[in-house]
Amino acid sequence: MIKIEFSLAIALYIALTVSLVLIFWMILERKKVKKFFSSEDRFFWQCNICTYVYVDSRHSVISQCPRCRSYNKKEEAQHA
Ligand SMILES: [Zn+2]
Repeated sequence: MIKIEFSLAIALYIALTVSLVLIFWMILERKKVKKFFSSEDRFFWQCNICTYVYVDSRHSVISQCPRCRSYNKKEEAQHA
């Protein structure tokens, strides 16, 4: 009887610890993803000519579209 209760206690302890770690990890990962998107958002460009979306981290004002080779100017207020 004591052995069963002991193993049950161990199982409960492990389950609780694992779920706690999982929840903590999920919160951390969600924060990381949010941070990643907010910091990388300015690297995303949408071509005004062919509407092609691409990433250019080297330029901040004017970028060249890799598809149609036209130049795109960064606008602060972009139209969705
Ligand atoms: Zn283009």
